[in-house]
Amino acid sequence: MSQILHGLAVQTEILSRLKSRIQKLKRPPGLAVILVGQDPASEIYVRTKIKACADLGLLSEKITPPETATTEDLVTIIEELNARPDIDGILVQMPLPKHMDTRRALEAVAAGKDVDGFHPTNVGYLVAGRPAPRSCTPAGIIELLKFYKIPIEGKHAVVLGRSDIVGKPMALMLLQESATVTICHSRTANLKEICRQADILVAAIGRPGFVTADYIKPGATVIDVGINRVTDAGEAANFGRAEEFANKGRTVVGDVHPLDMARVAGAYTPVPGGVGPLTIAMLMANTVELAERHQASA
Ligand code: NDP
Repeated sequence: MSQILHGLAVQTEILSRLKSRIQKLKRPPGLAVILVGQDPASEIYVRTKIKACADLGLLSEKITPPETATTEDLVTIIEELNARPDIDGILVQMPLPKHMDTRRALEAVAAGKDVDGFHPTNVGYLVAGRPAPRSCTPAGIIELLKFYKIPIEGKHAVVLGRSDIVGKPMALMLLQESATVTICHSRTANLKEICRQADILVAAIGRPGFVTADYIKPGATVIDVGINRVTDAGEAANFGRAEEFANKGRTVVGDVHPLDMARVAGAYTPVPGGVGPLTIAMLMANTVELAERHQASA
């Protein structure tokens, strides 16, 4: 029987640790969330983040420039937030409208308020193994592996995907935990064979059920980061989600075939309920950590 790695259990643990740290602060940590335009999926994500702040006693502020805002407008908003002493973390919800310069916006966020760990300075700190805000999803995955006492040191970890948000920082964090790390992407030759060597396989490619049984070493730990909406009844049935599809007209699956993962992996994160809750928890953790630093240096 494979072990299911539940993200919510880890989230609860992370948030409960944060509560005592928040109580010791002189003022509540403040998070500003900027949502440009009205992308429905982004609105849901932002709502979840604002609610998490409220539940934990963090101050949050939602700023919603219109879809027509320019990169300059956004940079001006970010610079105002950079200067505010009550704001510890600034999050620019992705994706930005196509006409905007994403890199410019992310680099406008002060490195000391970069709650997502995307600023080049913080990426540099990650490479150098120095403390700094870290990309929330991979940082949460490290917490999950530790929570479930899954050994990382000396293990072969294969990271499928090389995005700046998940794949690359995940590989660096696993390396820092002394795993032997291989990064794979869309141009990797012998992908299946490499994945099958993994003791820890992290899939972050955005392709529903792409990783099948023949990519997984029996007994491996499989972390499924993907969030993919399935709207085809046949596809949903193939993933063992026919009943859910019949009730809701859709389902969400990860990048790993859910039935294969449960059959072959030694331990795995389900989708939904695996990695998702960790991202929010680490966003809260990064905000609290930045607030501690700001208050210590005030
Ligand atoms: P990106 O689209 O930015 O990156 C995808 C990566 O996967 C790229 O490096 C790409 O390679 C690689 N890739 C794509 N197709 C293949 C393939 N057929 N074989 C091998 N590699 C492939 O995605 P993200 O990293 O932002 O997100 C990945 C998934 O994780 C998405 O489903 C996203 O929704 C989900 N996600 C979930 C989060 C959570 O909280 N659970 C948080 C963030 C993301 P190349 O570079 O060569 O193009």
